[in-house]
Amino acid sequence: MSQTLIQARIKVLSSHVANQIAAGEVVERPLSVVKELIENSLDAGATEIDVEVEQGGIRLIRVKDNGSGIHKDDLALSLKRHATSKISSSEDLHKLMSLGFRGEALPSIASISRIEIRSANNGDEHAWLVRCDGKDHIEEPEPVGHPLGTSVEVRDLFFNTPGRRKFLKAEKTEFSHIETLFKRIALSRFDVAFSLSHNQRVIHKLPVANSDEQKLKRVSLICGKGFVDCALQIDFSAGGLRLAGWIAQPTFSRSQPDMQYFYVNGRNIKDKVVTHAIRQAYQDVLFHGRHPVYVLYLEIDPMLVDVNVHPTKHEVRFRDSRSIHDFIYRVLRDTIARKIAVSGSDSAEYQGQHSEPQSAGSYYSSISAEQKPGFQNFSQHSIPLKVQEQIRNYSNLYIAGSDSDSSAEDSGSGMPPLGYALAQIQGVYILAENLHGLIIVDMHAAHERITYERLKKAFTEDTIRSQPLLVPITINVSEAEVKLAEKQQQLFESLGFNVEPMGKESLVIRQVPSILRESDVEQLLRDVLSDISMHGETKRVLEEINSIFSTMACHGSIRANRKLTVPEMNALLRDMERTERSGQCNHGRPTWVQMSMSQLDKLFLRGQ
Ligand code: ADP
Ligand code: MG
Repeated sequence: MSQTLIQARIKVLSSHVANQIAAGEVVERPLSVVKELIENSLDAGATEIDVEVEQGGIRLIRVKDNGSGIHKDDLALSLKRHATSKISSSEDLHKLMSLGFRGEALPSIASISRIEIRSANNGDEHAWLVRCDGKDHIEEPEPVGHPLGTSVEVRDLFFNTPGRRKFLKAEKTEFSHIETLFKRIALSRFDVAFSLSHNQRVIHKLPVANSDEQKLKRVSLICGKGFVDCALQIDFSAGGLRLAGWIAQPTFSRSQPDMQYFYVNGRNIKDKVVTHAIRQAYQDVLFHGRHPVYVLYLEIDPMLVDVNVHPTKHEVRFRDSRSIHDFIYRVLRDTIARKIAVSGSDSAEYQGQHSEPQSAGSYYSSISAEQKPGFQNFSQHSIPLKVQEQIRNYSNLYIAGSDSDSSAEDSGSGMPPLGYALAQIQGVYILAENLHGLIIVDMHAAHERITYERLKKAFTEDTIRSQPLLVPITINVSEAEVKLAEKQQQLFESLGFNVEPMGKESLVIRQVPSILRESDVEQLLRDVLSDISMHGETKRVLEEINSIFSTMACHGSIRANRKLTVPEMNALLRDMERTERSGQCNHGRPTWVQMSMSQLDKLFLRGQ
């Protein structure tokens, strides 16, 4: 084989082969075709774009627009490589306003599918049609009926490159990629109406959104009402930069990074600098493993950013990424902090059935405010407690309840290993005294670990007890999520939930695991749905279930800043002693630390 390769002479490839090679880069899967076609429609100034897909786009993709149309004489040319109306000189490359400019998409797509383009251009009396069947030859245009604008129809993707077709995933998966892309584009152009249908069913219909209210409506149709209800609006400009959009309060987070939309000058991008800046802004207020939710638009002088680093990936290159990072970080951090400083009342609406009145706001301020006098509880309990008596008296007082069997004791002294509670600090830490000195417990982390281990244990023993809700909770979700929930009813049942569809886009929760009766069930269910849809329905291995449990535990646990009574605190300490791995929370942070007498002595330079 290598022999012939070495000896072969150089020849120019036929344009068909060249196009197929280019298609290898441009068209990875149906989603790529949809992206190119929608971008062409946007470049043509369309204000209405309808996307129709059949069988995940493998059988058919049709994108119809009301844009400027293609002139009859240009129709055949549009399928030729390096033919574009968008630039004519290399000068133009520097002031590029269009999404496309390479003139590669249509010829690439045409080389691996059966394509038909119908288009009516202002100058033409009627519309014209060209087709191409994956070959080099393009017939003369023929007249057809079509309103002003263009329809591009792509059938049987990869029909002539079976090797590539093999790599396509199930219809459902391919469609979900398309839907994700569609949402990303729809959030970039509020001035354009979009629709998306799959197998003749309308999945999204988004009218033009001009007013703030209409825009928020579109965001709600795409990201869900839950996000919009707790979103903070942002619009901030400084030093030639503008950041606008919506971010979720820290109380509304996701277990997956699947609701993060960021645009630079209207173009959706994924960028490490940006992601890092946002993560950092949420750093103190989001639990580990949780992902913030946002729809954000950055405007910047086009000279200071290169968005065309890669034709298919959504990358950008900022000239001065340091200052972009700082700008985004500061704006978001301040927004969250300001919200948090005044919150307490309005984030409670989102919390709905949540058992504790505290918002994430008070959580945040409690860990960041230094001046707050926080010793109200302390004086009350700072004198040695009659702990044994109190221990005997407590009965299932703290949130998850507790067994009352005897607890471990420290070598016959009568003192349990984690000792007895003295006080609670700022709603975050429990102080306890044991034989060795002082114990400090992060009560949220500790409770989370206990809940997690309990869920795991109950699951393996198949004894998750569930209890009906007095008032069933209805939540609005997407149609796809309704389907998913319906399909996964058994899984939900095994998790102790009763979840049923109620209409096309809502679910009703009638029953929840007893252990979680006090938690934010709506948020929890949303996360569980997102977990299942990301991890697929088949591989329900223990790890995923554990990660769902970890999510459940996180929501089901005592939020920081909840006042516990001393018996409740002691009950928690006893539960920690009984629970495996209770020294670490699910996120790997310690749940308690011991400060021995000698460590305490050192602090005060005693005996030195
Ligand atoms: P590019 O977008 O990089 O120019 P394409 O292969 O995607 O290359 O498209 C080739 C040309 O076909 C475009 O430059 C444009 O003139 C024309 N065209 C494609 N789609 C449309 C459309 N929906 N409306 C109007 N013109 C279009
Ligand atoms: Mg294009």
